[in-house]
Amino acid sequence: MTIFAKILSGEIPCHRVYEDAHVLAFLDIGPVSDGHLLVIPKEAKAHLHELSDDSAAAIGRVLPRLARAVMAATGATAYNILQNNGAAAHQAVMHVHFHIIPKLASAGLGVGWNAGKLDGARAQELVASMQAAMNR
Ligand code: AMP
Repeated sequence: MTIFAKILSGEIPCHRVYEDAHVLAFLDIGPVSDGHLLVIPKEAKAHLHELSDDSAAAIGRVLPRLARAVMAATGATAYNILQNNGAAAHQAVMHVHFHIIPKLASAGLGVGWNAGKLDGARAQELVASMQAAMNR
């Protein structure tokens, strides 16, 4: 059982900001910046790609509203949404979660971005392969 499952069941407390039938949002206990919020589905899945369409839709519906609330509470005019999948991608809690991290003058998410250059032949392969996967 993950720590977020324990929060959902009420076994562990949280600083709850929002809750509906499918979603819970609460303050991150180790904020990267002031106002750092976590948004989780109630569905117990480790990774985004495992989520049901209903959970995904419920999160998508409320994320912009929660981002506006974070901005209003902190005065931030910029923020990052971070969503890690897999330990190799820095996921520590194996229950799907979206971070909303305000970018403040003093603090915020640091991003390493080693951009390459898209190869035309590889792009064609990728498009065909992803489209086939979407149609399965
Ligand atoms: P990630 O690396 O994407 O899995 O991030 C997990 C996040 O969960 C971290 O930012 C932690 O600070 C946060 N976290 C862990 N336990 C709790 C908790 N009990 N309440 C609130 N946030 C938590």
